[in-house]
Amino acid sequence: MFPAFDKLHSTLKQLPGLGSRSAERICIHLLAERPEKLDQLVLALQEAAQHVGRCPVCGNLCQGETCSICEDPTRDDSRLCIVESVNDLLAIEKSGAWKGRYHVIHGRISPLKSIGPESLNLESLKSRLQNGAIHEVLLALANDIESEATCHYIQEVVLADTSITISRIGFGLPSGGDITYADSLTLRNALESRKSFA
Ligand SMILES: [Zn+2]
Repeated sequence: MFPAFDKLHSTLKQLPGLGSRSAERICIHLLAERPEKLDQLVLALQEAAQHVGRCPVCGNLCQGETCSICEDPTRDDSRLCIVESVNDLLAIEKSGAWKGRYHVIHGRISPLKSIGPESLNLESLKSRLQNGAIHEVLLALANDIESEATCHYIQEVVLADTSITISRIGFGLPSGGDITYADSLTLRNALESRKSFA
């Protein structure tokens, strides 16, 4: 249409869940129909960019030094649930089935996409495991080949030489199914039916 419109459109359509048509609708909404919302969006984006970051302990999103889950004194320090994304953490939180802590690794090992273990949030995981407080690690990763490889890497490299019990989420999910899109009941069942991973 014109350069500023095209730039906004091409930026929006790269966002997850937004195709070209939805991005175009949002552009028209913000620029033509409800321009006051554009200012609100700019302010909200600036505030989020300035104040929101990754929790240095677990990798969850946080505003402040650490996230609300790390700061919650009622959580079970002896159990750690490893998830691939903040979306997965939120889905498990909604299910209400986990009262331990979390660690978000931000991705999965994928040789095809050149994602190796060094790209994942594993260094802070190693240091968390060294303090001896954690007795159980639950691998709540998806049910596909890349997640499988990631689970094995964590077991064989990150958790090597520890006496920590490792379990993996049981699956009522279809093969390749993502945790983010599972409903709460399915997730509760998957957590309760976790199996020893060895
Ligand atoms: Zn945290």
